[in-house]
Amino acid sequence: MRTNLSVEEALEAVLALATGEPAVEEVALRDALGRVLAQDLAALADHPSADDSAVDGYACRVADTLGASPEAPVRLRLIGEAPAGRPFAGEVGPGEAVAIYTGAPIPRGADGVVRVEDTRREGEYVLLLAPASPKDIRPQGDDLRRGEVYLRQGDLLTPGRLGLAAAMGYPRLPVYARPRVGILSTGDEVVEPGEALPPGGVYNSNAYSLLGLVREAGGEAVLLGKVDDRPEALLRRLEEALPLDLILTSGGVSMGAYDVVRQVLEERGEVVFWRVRQQPGGPLLLARLGGVPLLGLPGNPVSAMVTFFLYGRPFLFRLLRRTEPPYLRMEAEVETPFKGAKGKTVFRRGVLRYQGGWRVASTGNQSSAVLRSMAFGNALVVVPPDQDLSPGAWAEVIPAPMALLGLPF
Ligand code: AMP
Ligand code: MG
Repeated sequence: MRTNLSVEEALEAVLALATGEPAVEEVALRDALGRVLAQDLAALADHPSADDSAVDGYACRVADTLGASPEAPVRLRLIGEAPAGRPFAGEVGPGEAVAIYTGAPIPRGADGVVRVEDTRREGEYVLLLAPASPKDIRPQGDDLRRGEVYLRQGDLLTPGRLGLAAAMGYPRLPVYARPRVGILSTGDEVVEPGEALPPGGVYNSNAYSLLGLVREAGGEAVLLGKVDDRPEALLRRLEEALPLDLILTSGGVSMGAYDVVRQVLEERGEVVFWRVRQQPGGPLLLARLGGVPLLGLPGNPVSAMVTFFLYGRPFLFRLLRRTEPPYLRMEAEVETPFKGAKGKTVFRRGVLRYQGGWRVASTGNQSSAVLRSMAFGNALVVVPPDQDLSPGAWAEVIPAPMALLGLPF
């Protein structure tokens, strides 16, 4: 068992266990938002499907319209119209024009369009006050070419990409099955909201903050409830829940006599590492139980969320072959002091906002038991080992509005 890892070493060890290949399933476009594409997709058709008009106006032969101006209009005979979706069947000859609308194919014979603003209709004729131009013709395949790959394996299906998949002609999409992530809370003192709170009891908040983070990262949260600090109960509950792609436990990984998660995994599983040089979340444990990776998250509500965000989320991204990184980094100017710690990377909770530049302020009480810092913060402020940050300093910040504020996937 390794111990006292750096944040980077711990992440590497976690990702090394993300070796599973999720199953692939097909879902209808309407159900695909937030899912992850399992294959590269090539366009099934050109878009536009033919050379078409980018404007409402008149399609005609450019050569007929050279020199047209308000003072010297050119008069063309109207031979028909081409609304979008109803192409004009005939051919445009010399001295002729077809009324055309945005998105309609350019009729044979025509090689330019005059915008309707530059024309005047006179019964069977149209007066052109400007010359026709080919620049308002969108060439076939200008946006999408049949056979070309525009969406890739691992792409998150965002609204724009759902629209793109539809434009490419796909009614259904191959996506990865959501990895099943078991969430088990430990602690004699932990009770479900709605139950009577005994003296010294605490409501099980970890199950629900983790459920949100798991879903937002593309996983299926499998709530396993809570177990008392008893090794047999813990082991039984976990074994009954298999198969899972990842197990999250919260609590029971510190130094106390009742910290049974570590005991059980040392005896019955395989502990990869315990303890990371970070705060919050220092007691984090990585193990395997029956071949399933297990993150033993510390019980404090902030520690559980921060460690899942820093390690569990990248694990799920790796399993799902996500093309985007699990989190971004940026720099912001610090507005309030942020305390660091000796030999540890500290992740403080901040409110990041743009005001002439990116600035970040503390959410207030930074205790890892104060969940409000996660509920109302929108960023983690990274304080390097052995440093304190003073107002005016620049800090590395991990903005995480989607994950921390929750996107309803
Ligand atoms: P532990 O890591 O088990 O030593 O727990 C650390 C702190 O987190 C203790 O104050 C626990 O009561 C609290 N805690 C543990 N599990 C949960 C939970 N599921 N929800 C809220 N608080 C918890
Ligand atoms: Mg405990």
